[in-house]
Amino acid sequence: MPSFNPQNVPLPAGHLIGGKIHPGNGERLRVNRPSDGQFLGEIPDGDAALVDLAVTNAHQSWLESGWGTCAPRERAKVLRRWACLIEEHRVALGQLEAVSSTRPIYDVINHEIPFTAEAIRFYAECCDKYSGDVLPTRSSSLGMLVPEPYGVIGAITPWNFPLSMASWKLGPALAAGNAVVLKPSELTPFSTIKLAELAIEAGLPAGVLNIVQGRGVSCGSALVNHPLVRKVSFTGSTVTGAQIMSQAALNGMKPVTLELGGKSPQLVFDDAGDIDVVATRIFRGFTANGGQACVAGTRLVVQSGIADALITKLVALCESVAPGNTWSGACRYAPIIDVRQAKKIESIVQAAVKEGAQLLAGGEFFANTEQGYFFKPTLLAGVGAQSVAVQEEIFGPVLTIQTFETEEQGLALADHAIYGLAAGVHTLNIERALRAMRRLAAGTVWINRYGRSGDFIIPTGGFNGSGIGKDLGRQAYEACLRYKSVLIDF
Ligand code: NAD
Repeated sequence: MPSFNPQNVPLPAGHLIGGKIHPGNGERLRVNRPSDGQFLGEIPDGDAALVDLAVTNAHQSWLESGWGTCAPRERAKVLRRWACLIEEHRVALGQLEAVSSTRPIYDVINHEIPFTAEAIRFYAECCDKYSGDVLPTRSSSLGMLVPEPYGVIGAITPWNFPLSMASWKLGPALAAGNAVVLKPSELTPFSTIKLAELAIEAGLPAGVLNIVQGRGVSCGSALVNHPLVRKVSFTGSTVTGAQIMSQAALNGMKPVTLELGGKSPQLVFDDAGDIDVVATRIFRGFTANGGQACVAGTRLVVQSGIADALITKLVALCESVAPGNTWSGACRYAPIIDVRQAKKIESIVQAAVKEGAQLLAGGEFFANTEQGYFFKPTLLAGVGAQSVAVQEEIFGPVLTIQTFETEEQGLALADHAIYGLAAGVHTLNIERALRAMRRLAAGTVWINRYGRSGDFIIPTGGFNGSGIGKDLGRQAYEACLRYKSVLIDF
């Protein structure tokens, strides 16, 4: 994968409203490159007036363009063209993503861009595949359930996978005939604008997708509260999700889809199979994107018979990675997004060590990495269930290790008091695997793998503190429709 010069990437500087870049007023926010901490560019912080402009424009465009009322196949054509344009522009779009986020260009070009395009294609296929229902009523009347789009959906995305997260929101919402106003994270604001410009180039009526930039407390909050936003789809932390849910309830009783944080277990039994394969799986599960993935498998819960051998392999894997700038084609290990997040990771690791955890690998930043923050893959053993490192989502490459003797003990350790996003089960005993699958309180259970595939039919979403509703799958499409009950007498 060719490296590129981060200075040569043009940045869209503003909001996107009605198909045009709007420079915004008021305060400007600095955006830095995660790889080296250097200044990258600025965005405007959208206030309530700006959000009102974007939402009103989206609502008007939605009404006037007929996006919600046209033949569904017309929407499908636009979405398919959009997916093709994403692939055609993969270098420009990919460089924008890599320079401003934690995603190495290698991963962006090989995974992020194809997955973004395919997610849009998946929802293009949904456009004309869903129907309402004819309900059994007496024969002199006709009862129907008629699906229709909400109107304007407000979407808010996090910084860890900017393009994918946007496609998971936009694909189903637009396919179902809604307009969307999306606010990306203020830390990774640029690639979403380019993604939206490509949608308009593909034939999406300008204004049916508007992008607003700014902080969560100003711009994001104004978007949630706007009276013309009829549904909110959010991905981010559990704390913010709770705020959004209460705001949405108080400002129009809007339905919410909330994809939130996680603290997912990797439950490994003695009969997990080839130890090198299992170790690599576990390692990738907690270090992908520098551990900054909602589904990161950050709690190793391992049966005592295999524990020592597995830990030895994991230590070696931890020592094998090297940091690199995200614009280098050789980079495979992601930096931490910013100084705040880096300090949080460091302080939780230090607190765990102070509590008595043993540091088996990492625990510190790589030296000599310009000014970016690259945290070494870290293994913390000897942690109790109440340890801060086990309780809190660290959102960094840190794996806690807990051992158990019996299946029952392992299952009890694997469940988390707050989160229930994903879980990995590693055993070659099919009955044990299925028992664990039934028992674990997690929205996704991976057996003898860890991480998503390109099967967009499989939805993702958490239990308990990890969220409400699903992204991806048919479920995300259905959640972008509301159903009208109709009764006709004749
Ligand atoms: P965050 O909650 O800080 O911010 C997410 C988005 O919400 C940003 O765009 C932010 O500006 C906005 N926001 C913040 N406060 C707001 C408010 N009061 N009103 C409206 N919008 C507001 O999360 P983050 O740090 O950007 O992302 C990391 C978190 O996201 C982690 O907890 C991670 O687990 C979670 N995440 C979950 C999934 C999933 O599918 N479950 C996927 C990716 C990330």
